This record gives sequence, structure tokens and C-alpha cells, in this order.
Amino acid sequence: MNSQITVTPLLLSLSITLLSLHPSLAHSHSVCIIGSGIGGASIAHFLRRYSPPDTLAQIAIFERHGVVGGRMATVTIGGETFEAGASILHPKNYHAVNYTSYLGLKRKEPELADDSLSLGIWDGGKFVYKTLTCSSKLPIVQRLVSIANSILMALRYGVVSLFRMGSFVEVTVDKFLKYYEGFESRPVFESVEGMLKWAGLYNLTTVTLGEKLVEVGLSPILIQELVTVITRINYGQSVNISGLAGAVSLAGSGGGLWSVEGGNWQMAAGLINRSNVELHLREEIESVSYMGDVYELNSTKGESYNCQVTVVATPLDELNILFSPGISIPPRKLQHTHATFVRGLLNPAYFGLDRVSDIPELVGTIESADVPFTSISILKQHENDTTYKIFSREAMTDALLDKLFSVRAETIKIDWAAYPHYHAPEVYAPFILDGKHLYYVNAFENAASTMETSAVAAENIARLILSRLSGKAADNDSPNLKSFSSDSSEMRAEL
Ligand SMILES: Cc1cc2nc3c(=O)[nH]c(=O)nc-3n(C[C@H](O)[C@H](O)[C@H](O)COP(=O)(O)OP(=O)(O)OC[C@H]3O[C@@H](n4cnc5c(N)ncnc54)[C@H](O)[C@@H]3O)c2cc1C
Repeated sequence: MNSQITVTPLLLSLSITLLSLHPSLAHSHSVCIIGSGIGGASIAHFLRRYSPPDTLAQIAIFERHGVVGGRMATVTIGGETFEAGASILHPKNYHAVNYTSYLGLKRKEPELADDSLSLGIWDGGKFVYKTLTCSSKLPIVQRLVSIANSILMALRYGVVSLFRMGSFVEVTVDKFLKYYEGFESRPVFESVEGMLKWAGLYNLTTVTLGEKLVEVGLSPILIQELVTVITRINYGQSVNISGLAGAVSLAGSGGGLWSVEGGNWQMAAGLINRSNVELHLREEIESVSYMGDVYELNSTKGESYNCQVTVVATPLDELNILFSPGISIPPRKLQHTHATFVRGLLNPAYFGLDRVSDIPELVGTIESADVPFTSISILKQHENDTTYKIFSREAMTDALLDKLFSVRAETIKIDWAAYPHYHAPEVYAPFILDGKHLYYVNAFENAASTMETSAVAAENIARLILSRLSGKAADNDSPNLKSFSSDSSEMRAEL
């Protein structure tokens, strides 16, 4: 994989330095990564990919849980497995596209096609919007229903408003694509702000999505209903999230979405497997101390590790890692999303309906104190019952579930510290936490939290590490590394 890289004398001498540091210490590593999610796995992958062979003697990943993947995880209910956390990927999530083909994984399209999915927007007392449904499986009938639904949507939300919403998302996605450009035109970034400004995305993090969409000319009803449904599903939050997080959220409701068959977590597992990594499962890092030339990491297993470079690839907000000397990052609250999986049957009476088949396949909700959940979606329709996924801001009580469901054979509840609680303007933690070699991938999560944004941030940090180790300035200067290609499509193919 690395055969095309040019070994610069500077990097080679650096690798010798790294290898010869602290030969007497039991656990010596070039790079230690805390967290085995897509961010940590991507750091290992890109470090190996962008550095000459043998440059980085040892890369270690520490994972407090017994499995890799972090927020990419599956849940098994009724004998079938579904995504429990990060579920969908955008067709232009090119790192994920590349990982999937590089690792020989299979792409999976959603069970229910976008245009045949019935949608209802629930306000706590009634459906304020509901698409038409039909039981016929005839393609022509389905097509007609789909056209009728498009007309319904256009009548309620306005053709021009819907078009403007689409353009807003498209323009933002196009700007994001700059992060796949080759090294010749894409600098290495030392800060999230610099990274966002370069792509023309920073200003979107200084206004709320609601404000931005008013500026773009969307109708208030579109913002209050459809857009709100989407931000609540994807980030558990209202349109008060930043314009950028909002655009990412809206992009995640478009066509062509996909996931990895068998579970998205396999991307992390595959990258770790192929990156010559020493993986420490069930080993939580409790402290990171700078010892003058290396970082000493102490784990819950009572082990110590000396690391030339340390990368934090997990949000620090709800963790108690002790840093010495202390680090300073802006306070950030995480939005908790409760994912409840139920195999059973919804109770149509809860929604004022007669038959369970009248309940839309996706029940979205608007901001209202009367709504105790953010969304209910169908994961799979079985012969006699259905598997549902419910998202909510608070835990779903059994009493509430008993009202919502007429049959409940199995229930699984997961409380996710899911993503940042977004604001505008956003403030960012630094990528480099101590001005030395302590890096923080999840500083980028204030821009947006997705599998792909973690991979994009990790790719930049891998370049940042290598460029700083080789003594090159970042932000305005390309590192002393050879890019695989200046053309992003070629770069994708090469992976
Ligand atoms: C319910 C839900 C739905 C989502 N839906 C989507 C979606 O559809 N599409 C999408 O792209 N994204 C989605 N996301 C967001 C996505 O999951 C995250 O942005 C992404 O997975 C973050 O990856 P990461 O590697 O940065 O962090 P994480 O996946 O959180 O990985 C961090 C890892 O570090 C480990 N760790 C933490 N502290 C320590 C320690 N001290 N020592 C050792 N290990 C430690 C953790 O156990 C964890 O495994 C969703 C998230 C949630 C929760």
C-alpha cells in the first residue's frame, strides 16, 4: 500500500530516533491512540499509509471496551442484528467508500427505498403531515403514490423552499469535498477553525441552522416541520444547532444512503487489522503525563506505556482522563440520545388511528413538550410483527412503551453520549492539546459528528503528526510527505 511513498531523509532519521528512544522501557511506542472508533482506526490507517515503511515503529490503540468501533455498534434483537449507533453513510462519504472497498466489505442499501418510505410528522396530538400509503406492491401504483406524495409535499412546504433547501445542502457538501483534494492543493491544518475556513465552511458554524435557512429563503413551516424532523432524528436537537451541523444533518436525509453489511464497526476493525497496530482491548487509559520527551499513559490494568505521540480519539467531555500538565478545552455538553429497540407492534390508538398499517414507517416529530420521543422508525417488517427503533432525549419508561405498543416481545435500551450539543457560534478545542505531540481528533466534532467527519479529521491529524515530526509548519505548508495523488478520484481508487 505504501510502495509509492518517497522516504525523505528527514523522516528516515526521525524514524531512527523514534526507534531508539527509551530502549530500556518495557512498553515503548511511537504513537498511542486512545479510542478504537472510526477516528482512532483512521489515525492508524493514515499514519501507516502516509509514512514510509518502518517509520513508526509501534502504533498502539487502547480501547476501554471489549470490542472496537465505539459509536459504530450493532444490537441484536429477535435474533436479527441492526445498527445501534451510527447507521447511515452519505454517497459522498469518500473515506467510508474507500474503506469499504479496501477492506472488501459489502455496501447495504436501506431496506425501504427513500421514495416509498411513508412519513408522518407527529406533534403530540395529531399528524400535521402524513404521506399517502398504499398496500399494493405493483410498481406503477407505487410510482403514482410517490408522485402524489411529491405533490403533497410541494403544496405544504413550497416548491421554491424545497429547492432552496436542496441547493443549500448541495453547496455545503461541495465545499466539504475539498477535504479529499490531493496534498498539493490541501494544506495540513493545525486548528479546526483553519480547516473550516479553508473549505469555506466556518461561517456556517457562526449561525444557527434556523437563522441560515431563513436567510436562504425557506418557508417557516418547512423549517418548523420537515427540517426539524431531520435535525431531531440525526442530532436529537432543534434547528438551533449550527448551520453546518444542520447541513450535515440534512445531507443525511437525502438519497443514496448506505451502510456496511454486517455493521459499520467493521470499518474500524478492518483498518486496525491492516495497520499493524497493537490493540489493547478492555484497557482504559486513566492518565496521560508529559515526561519531558515522551507521554506516559497509565491504564486501568496498572500498566504504563511511553509514547512519543499520543492521540485522543474520543470525546473528552464525559471522561475523567487525568492530564499532566493539565489541558484546557472549551466546555462542551454531549447530547444524549436514547435508542430503544422494540420487537412488537405499535398501538394505532396512541396515534388516533384504527390500524397499525396506518402508522407511517417513519414517525418524525416537531419541537413540542407534548412529544416524549424524537422519532420512531421501522427497521424490519416481519411476518407477524415489526422491529422498531425509537430515538428520544429522555429514557423511554416502560409505562410509556406500554402505551405506545400493543405488543412488545423484546425491548433493548441504549443510552448514547451521542454527539455534541450544538450551538452557534461554535467554539473549538485545539487539535494539538499541549503545543507538543498530544492530539485531539474529536475537536472536529463541534463542526459535525459523523463517521466521515471523524475520518476526515483523523486524516488531517495523521498528516499533522507526520509533518510536525518532520519539523514542517502546518496550515500554510504541505508536509514533507508524498501525496498519493492530487486527484481525489485516483486517490480513492488507490486505496
Ligand atoms: C445514536 C447515534 C446515531 C448516529 N448516527 C450516525 C449516522 O447515521 N451516520 C454517521 O455518520 N454518524 C452517526 N453518528 C455519529 C457517529 O457515531 C460518530 O460521529 C462517530 O462514530 C465518532 O467516532 P469516533 O471514533 O470519533 O468516536 P467513538 O466512536 O466514540 O470512539 C471512541 C472510542 O474511545 C473509547 N474510549 C473512550 N475513553 C477511553 C479511554 N479512556 N481509554 C480507552 N478507550 C477509551 C470508547 O470506548 C470508544 O470506543 C451517530 C451516533 C449515535 C450515538
